[in-house]
Amino acid sequence: MDTAALAQITHGIYILGATDEKRFVGCTVDAVMQASVKPLIIALSCMNTGFTKSVIDRTKRFSLSVVSENLPPFVIANFGFQTSRLVAKWDNVDYLQKDGLPFLKEALAGFTCRVLSVQAFESHTVYLAEVEDAWLGKKGTCLTYQAYQEGFKTSVFNAFQQYLKEKKMTEQKYEWVCTLCGYVYDEETPFEDLPDTWVCPLCGAGKDAFEKRPVEK
Ligand code: FE
Repeated sequence: MDTAALAQITHGIYILGATDEKRFVGCTVDAVMQASVKPLIIALSCMNTGFTKSVIDRTKRFSLSVVSENLPPFVIANFGFQTSRLVAKWDNVDYLQKDGLPFLKEALAGFTCRVLSVQAFESHTVYLAEVEDAWLGKKGTCLTYQAYQEGFKTSVFNAFQQYLKEKKMTEQKYEWVCTLCGYVYDEETPFEDLPDTWVCPLCGAGKDAFEKRPVEK
C-alpha cells in the first residue's frame, strides 16, 4: 500500500478552539469536513495526544476558525508547535469570543460545534459535531493543506524559531541568594522553590535565609 496516495485527499488548515474551565485552549488541525446537511454536521479528526482534544472530550464543544493564505505564518506555528497545557496560545494572537469559545479575528469563517458522537482510533479520534452557529468573516482564499506543505511550511518554521528566540530573551530568570553570606545559586535551571532540606554550601544557613531575586539582564 502506498500511503502517499492519501496526501492526494484535499484538506484545509483550521484553528481549533475549546474552553477549559475559563481558559481558552487550541491547536492547528487539518482534517475537517462537512459530513451532513440535515442536521448540519462537521467531522473533525484530532491526534489523541493533544491537550485541546482532552478538553473537547470533557466539554463536548469546540470552535473552528477557517484561515486564509495570507495568515501570518506564526499563527499556525503558535497553535501547532506548542501545547496548550503550558502556553496560553490565544494570548499570542488577535481573537474574539463567541458562545464562550475563542475564534481568530482574521478568520474567513467560524463555526461553533457541539459533539454528537466520538469514534476513537489508535492515533486519532474522530468527532461528529453539530454546527450550532456559523459565520463569515474576512474575505480571502482558504489555506489548503497542500499549499501549506508546498510553500507555507518553511515560513511557519522560521516564525516559530524567531518567537522562541524572543521568548528566551524576554524571559525573567531568577537566582537564589543567601542573605547571610551572599552565596548565589544561579544554575541554568534554578529551583522554583528551594527544597526544605536546602543548606547554604558556604555558611550552612537553611532555606529560610535564602531570597529569590530576579536576574538583571
Ligand atoms: Fe550562606
